[in-house]
Amino acid sequence: MVEKGLICTNCGRSYELKQLHYRCGSCGEPLEVTLYEGGGIARGNALAQSVLSRYKAFFPFETLDSRVSLGEGMTPLVSSPALAARAGIGSLLLKNESQNPTWSFKDRGTVAGVQHALKLGIRRIGTVSTGNMAPSVAAYGSRAGLETFVLVNEGIPKEKLSPIGIYGAHLIKVAGDYGRLYHESLRIGQEQDIYFINSDAPMRVEGSKTIAFEICEQLAFDMPDFVVVPTSAGGNLRGIAKGFREFLRAGLIHRLPRMVAAQARGCSPIVKAFEAGRLEISREEAPRTIAHAIENPLPPSGNEVLRILRKEEGLAVSVTEASILEAQRTLAMEGFFVQPASAVGYAAVLKLAEAGTIKEEDRVVVVLTGSGLKYTAALDRHTLEEETCALENLGDHLLQYRGL
Ligand SMILES: [Zn+2]
Repeated sequence: MVEKGLICTNCGRSYELKQLHYRCGSCGEPLEVTLYEGGGIARGNALAQSVLSRYKAFFPFETLDSRVSLGEGMTPLVSSPALAARAGIGSLLLKNESQNPTWSFKDRGTVAGVQHALKLGIRRIGTVSTGNMAPSVAAYGSRAGLETFVLVNEGIPKEKLSPIGIYGAHLIKVAGDYGRLYHESLRIGQEQDIYFINSDAPMRVEGSKTIAFEICEQLAFDMPDFVVVPTSAGGNLRGIAKGFREFLRAGLIHRLPRMVAAQARGCSPIVKAFEAGRLEISREEAPRTIAHAIENPLPPSGNEVLRILRKEEGLAVSVTEASILEAQRTLAMEGFFVQPASAVGYAAVLKLAEAGTIKEEDRVVVVLTGSGLKYTAALDRHTLEEETCALENLGDHLLQYRGL
């Protein structure tokens, strides 16, 4: 493994990457891999590379285990003039993360975590999740032949459980305070040599950097003005921001875009702290939103997200339930069926454009974090029309639309 260390995002204390460390022993804040100050993109055929091989210079792996990749990343960045016009802005680009192997951005962090586990000689991995991360870790664990533990809360509905169980991991419904499970899993994992690739584990953050790297390449290194990220634990936004920062240090880009943390108003601890000018988040006491995948009442990287937004002129914005559902429908009408949590990003763009924060000439990237097929219960919240006719009347039925 390339010599690289971990550093506390808050107090700067150092830790070794050769051991399992997640959070700072002094201040309790999350750790991250020390910043890469240089490096380049691997030469060769991008279609034949994995994200970890293409951006190898920005990862601490000397060699890559080919058993691990499922072809994650390299997702499309699609321009939508129609959605840009609706928001009254010059350009809107959608980074469609639903094109990943388990239909969400989580696969990028999972592949980095699994690769790290194999380097450390750890044969058991796990995660705490009822959302996108659970199937991702279950899939990659099976692929790599690792014993995999997925911890979910006791009340998880069957329709969410089965798409995790199909991959063959140990699926454990844990009774008790789900909020404590994140920290307990890290403690027990360190004792029992189980590598928990939780929401903001350092390697998961590293994996998310590749979203930024790809955006840079897809835009020929001409930076957008804003990058909007639906934000839950905070690991994804941290990774994307770190990716841009590292490409800047490497001289591949010349400025950073402004990061926007988008949350649902019904669970928006980061936005509330940001708006109040606080340095630390407080627990959301009664979280309630259709955007379940980002419903995290106490984001473990919330404080670090606040620090990044402050340092790099970022923004945090929350949106209403009605605007999330409307954005979900609007995105689908443009061809993107995403889960409600992912629609939060476009809803945030509409709000910021309306307020004049995002201006007419700005170019905006929205990260569509996961597929709408992950949460079909949300479809009940939409009024979707259908028509019926007898086969012998089909010609007449279609005739009414002629010339429309
Ligand atoms: Zn610290």
